[in-house]
Amino acid sequence: MVEVRSVHKSFGSLDVLRGIDLDVRAGEVTVVLGPSGSGKSTLLRTINHLEKVDSGSITVDGTLIGYRRENKASARRAFGKGGGGRRAGKLYELRERDVLRQRTRIGFVFQNFNLFPHLTVLDNVVEAPVAALKRPRKDAVAAARKLLARVGLADKTDAYPRQLSGGQQQRVAIARALALEPKLLLFDEPTSALDPELVGEVLDVMQDLAASGTTMIVVTHEIGFAREVADTVVFMDGGVIVEQGPPAEVLDAPRHERTRAFLSRGA
Ligand code: ATP
Ligand code: MG
Repeated sequence: MVEVRSVHKSFGSLDVLRGIDLDVRAGEVTVVLGPSGSGKSTLLRTINHLEKVDSGSITVDGTLIGYRRENKASARRAFGKGGGGRRAGKLYELRERDVLRQRTRIGFVFQNFNLFPHLTVLDNVVEAPVAALKRPRKDAVAAARKLLARVGLADKTDAYPRQLSGGQQQRVAIARALALEPKLLLFDEPTSALDPELVGEVLDVMQDLAASGTTMIVVTHEIGFAREVADTVVFMDGGVIVEQGPPAEVLDAPRHERTRAFLSRGA
């Protein structure tokens, strides 16, 4: 479902991703662990082209993300002089509207919820399918009510985000991501901003999604979630994947000293 191949990304002289290869199979949950600054968020952001890769490629469900593969002549015909703008190898960057279309099928849940403060819970979930997928509002509302019930918020549809707890806001954010019927859900530390007593309700929703076969990549420090829910655990450090495998291997019998050191300091 997700194929990351030799992805490199630098910010100025800082090499943040230094050759990432990652495969995520459909219906599987991959948990990404690693110290601060190891490149976890940057990796997630390249997967929906919020960051452009310097080299390498990423495909999601067979679709090359952010670029298309073509020769210079056809790129010049399509995009005018200068080809497709920025190049990464022989890949030409897609136009913004094509990138946006790709992004609609990849849900992204952020640490800080990023809900629209001026919209009700229901309208937060309804907005994207109506605006991006041109769904009739009536259908989008019916779907949103189902999704809000699924994350345990059927009674909060008319509330505004500021009236909700952090855990409730994050569950709205998850319902909003699901409203676009994504092929893939990306989570970047979805529980890191929450008070400890609210973490469980969000992880429960994520576990439910995993059990129903949603393909997910989750950056988190919740080792318990990784152990229980992940099919694959990836440990990143310094812009590379140090090791990856089933939780029983990576978490309980890590082969690399850096993984052992990270896990033992209980991050
Ligand atoms: P954390 O656990 O703290 O969230 P992370 O593993 O998600 O860390 P990234 O956010 O991917 O790390 O950042 C990796 C490195 O890249 C950091 O040193 C960060 O400062 C740098 N970086 C990230 N985004 C940018 C940017 N837009 N411009 C410049 N440097 C950046
Ligand atoms: Mg991060």
